[in-house]
Amino acid sequence: MAALSRFLRATATAARGMSTVAPESSVIYPAGLAAGPNMGSSVTLVETRDLGERNVQWVFLGCPGVGKGTYASRLSQLLGVPHIATGDLVREELSSSGPLAQQLAAIVNQGKLVSDEIVIDLLSKRLENGAAKGESGFILDGFPRTIRQAEILEGVTDLDLVLNLKLREDVLIEKCLGRRICSQCGGNFNVASISVKGENGMPGIYMAPLLPPSHCTSKLITRSDDTEEVVKERLRIYNEMSKPVEEFYTSRGKLQEFDLPGGISESWPKLLEALNIEDSDHKQSAAA
Ligand code: AMP
Repeated sequence: MAALSRFLRATATAARGMSTVAPESSVIYPAGLAAGPNMGSSVTLVETRDLGERNVQWVFLGCPGVGKGTYASRLSQLLGVPHIATGDLVREELSSSGPLAQQLAAIVNQGKLVSDEIVIDLLSKRLENGAAKGESGFILDGFPRTIRQAEILEGVTDLDLVLNLKLREDVLIEKCLGRRICSQCGGNFNVASISVKGENGMPGIYMAPLLPPSHCTSKLITRSDDTEEVVKERLRIYNEMSKPVEEFYTSRGKLQEFDLPGGISESWPKLLEALNIEDSDHKQSAAA
């Protein structure tokens, strides 16, 4: 994997009063750090545009619970690029003893978005650390989530692909409520057994549970934002703030939609086919 040969820091300044910024009802700005939408704040993100030889630079979009983490993680292993989930970066920060921890926990537990400035700061640090270790390329999961984040990313990076994973909303809620994490190894599992009949021309969906190995069973925890009330709020905010990001990339010819047909065993081969990727022999081979 080619290392990042050059690594610049760029500053993107948000325009005052942009119509694309999040309304304050949906984005909470922790005291002291940020900057509401009309404050002309400044955020930074690493520049990865002129890197010459490089690996894939992909973004995964999709509602909470759709499986972005599952498929981004599998593809990252296959393609040898880091899977960077901004939700994981936020959770790491809120479980630390840092000054932001309490405020971030309150925001995440209400299902709201944290400010663009904070997310971009966390992402910049993650990209810089990765570059220092020789990482190249990325699959971003959960970023961008606002038009402003998309514009800032566009200012510093050429994306190859934006993949939009899709699943019906009733299934998304069931999946979020069934999600479990092993508190020891960090493995992601799902105890929900989903079987939804087809209706109104939509096909039925069957998803088997993804059960943990026996040594994880007693250590399973539930994400604090995976309650029904918070999941519904996260879906509402996705529709309000992140749906426009899908349109942003559609207008640039970058968006590829993928309707998940079922669980991992059914969806994974179809996803690889849609992306024109071969998984023969567990070797990376991407014709994309
Ligand atoms: P996720 O694991 O992707 O569901 O993210 C968990 C939470 O982290 C979200 O509900 C937000 O509060 C926060 N978060 C993650 N990514 C972003 C982002 N790109 N912009 C704003 N908030 C984010």
